[in-house]
Amino acid sequence: MSKRDYYEVLGVSRDTSEREIKKAYKRLAMKFHPDRNPGDKTAEASFKEIKEAYEILTDADKKAAYDQFGHAGVDPNRGGGGYGGGQGDFGDIFGDVFGDIFGGGRRGGGQRQAARGSDLRYNLELSLEEAVKGFTKELRIPTLASCDLCDGSGAKKGTSATTCGTCHGQGQVQMRQGFFAVQQACPTCHGRGKIIKDPCTKCHGDGRVEKSKTLSVKIPAGVDTGDRIRLAGEGEAGEFGAPPGDLYVQVSVREHAIFVRDGNNLYCEVPISFSKAALGGEIEVPTLDGKVSLKIPAETQTGRMFRLRGKGVKSVRSHAVGDLLCKVVMETPVSLNERQKELLREFEATLTGESRKHSPKAEGFFDGVKKFFQDLNS
Ligand SMILES: [Zn+2]
Ligand SMILES: [Zn+2]
Repeated sequence: MSKRDYYEVLGVSRDTSEREIKKAYKRLAMKFHPDRNPGDKTAEASFKEIKEAYEILTDADKKAAYDQFGHAGVDPNRGGGGYGGGQGDFGDIFGDVFGDIFGGGRRGGGQRQAARGSDLRYNLELSLEEAVKGFTKELRIPTLASCDLCDGSGAKKGTSATTCGTCHGQGQVQMRQGFFAVQQACPTCHGRGKIIKDPCTKCHGDGRVEKSKTLSVKIPAGVDTGDRIRLAGEGEAGEFGAPPGDLYVQVSVREHAIFVRDGNNLYCEVPISFSKAALGGEIEVPTLDGKVSLKIPAETQTGRMFRLRGKGVKSVRSHAVGDLLCKVVMETPVSLNERQKELLREFEATLTGESRKHSPKAEGFFDGVKKFFQDLNS
């Protein structure tokens, strides 16, 4: 049965605060609490669902794992990656505590389990355009794959692994030490319970071979540096047919020549001429979808920020679209000819006497300077 999204269960948005999560939980828990709905199985199931969502979303680590990997990131039944640990952690605890006494065999009883394959990490560098638009990428990954000649058994084609005669397939043997009967990993088969007499010619009995595989990975639109995409079961093959590990594609986005990304917003700087800033007019602004025209009002000061709504990045998690924040920077004209210089001198002359009226920044600045020197002298 597929699980419902935890945020959906609590009826809150993904970027909500912990306080809101607690509030939503309290409200729903009151409604569905078994004490209030005696004998109602549906209410009981809802209550359990709400409680689980609440427990995950109010635990910072689990919430982060859930936000990134969904239910797989917080599934307590999954060993290895993610949180919760399950059986893997259980075994390790016993290994550490009892390992010295029982010597060897790390697991409490029974056969040593063939190890699950390792997780792999692939660092994928993207351009900003690729990250924003999303695309399908072919990845070539060197990995350990299950041997195709022996189907991962490690035994030569036509033969099969035989049950170990020392431990009779148990993987463990009993040794007497004083009063104790002590369990130990079988020295003959090293705890596997099986013996390979004729190893496979291709994998030499390991059951796995080095291989590079090509995977077609769909990179969702809106990913950013730090995002990870998990491909379940695409990691290394496990030992002797044990489940494979997972492949994590770690995304990093290269710096862009024009745009700087911050969350779902994009920033850019656009130069404008002195006369356009003064008189107003239209300028061309780059966006990821091509150029758009932006109207600049008269008397625009340098550094003014213009917001182009919806021209940013569409979030990979929600459907929110960010804005493009465009900062206009006024340029001082260079390489002027005599005629142009003459015009500017003429222009400057018209300002004499009432220059402050035309310079809102200078007015405040010079008043400040005046006050500064007055304070020094007093
Ligand atoms: Zn083989
Ligand atoms: Zn054995």
